[in-house]
Amino acid sequence: RQAAYASLRDVEPFTRCGTRIQVMMNAGLRDDMSNLAMTGADGVGLFRTEFQFLVSATLPQRERQTRLYRDVLDAAGDRPVIFRTVDIGGDKSVPYLASDIARNDENPAMGWRALRLALEREGLMKAQARALLEAAGGRALYVMFPMVSEVWEFDAARAVFDEQLAFLRAKKKLMPERIHFGAMLEVPALAEVLDLLLPKLSFLSVGTNDLTQFLFAADRANPKLAQRYDWLSPSILRFLRRVIQSSVGSGVDVGVCGEMGGRRLEALALLGIGFRRLSITPAAVGPIKELVRKIDLDELSAAINGWLADPAVDIRTELSAWAAAREI
Ligand code: PEP
Ligand code: MG
Repeated sequence: RQAAYASLRDVEPFTRCGTRIQVMMNAGLRDDMSNLAMTGADGVGLFRTEFQFLVSATLPQRERQTRLYRDVLDAAGDRPVIFRTVDIGGDKSVPYLASDIARNDENPAMGWRALRLALEREGLMKAQARALLEAAGGRALYVMFPMVSEVWEFDAARAVFDEQLAFLRAKKKLMPERIHFGAMLEVPALAEVLDLLLPKLSFLSVGTNDLTQFLFAADRANPKLAQRYDWLSPSILRFLRRVIQSSVGSGVDVGVCGEMGGRRLEALALLGIGFRRLSITPAAVGPIKELVRKIDLDELSAAINGWLADPAVDIRTELSAWAAAREI
């Protein structure tokens, strides 16, 4: 696998028609960062900060968080890292919150998790905000909030950062050079108010793992349902295409950071409906960069949009034949 990484590391993901696609990787541990150089990914499009919380028996102290974020930024050098604030709760339960979650959640994926939990556990959110701001002193910081369902949740989360920023400024600490705030779109309701949210964002990242389970009302962790709903179904692709269309002209960088983007046919579909940034598992970075170089976006989007216009078409079958005919 390492050899395969190496041979594709310096491959620049330009399409045949000359469009540069951002191929980023997902990470969550300090050790994951070595994959950045190994794969030649354009940066970390999703750093799951909850990993540190999940492996710890107690709530990680702010200093420990700062150390991790600083190490991650050091390892990334000039490449951007999008830090997602904690997404604990749900399927990612932690011992120090477990009783709270268990008491309230019969349906944890839709329960008290991620931003919902963080906004109520204000100390937790403040500590993480301070840790991120301090770690990024003198450089750019990208922060993304998970499970945003309504616009006010984004505002409230942003306000926690602004307050910590004011505190650090008053203390004359080294500030981040620039801060970019973004949101994950993984709750379908948010898509309906995207026009209100977009002006507040510098980027948006679609979390197709959660989004799919919420669109289909199908638990992503239930093995009986795992194979049932296809990422290439017209429901998902039409939904995602509408997100892209609503963002046109907003100046907001819209990408995907769910597992869907790391799969061959799914990545083709995402590029065909208009995504230009994918953040995927490191092992998929090389193969997806190679795939990007074989496609012509006009041809691909004409094909996808044609199939999407006809609900009777099985997109997986069509796309698979389309790709095979072009040796993709
Ligand atoms: C997602 O939901 O698609 C996502 C990237 O977040 P996670 O898998 O960590 O829930
Ligand atoms: Mg998610």
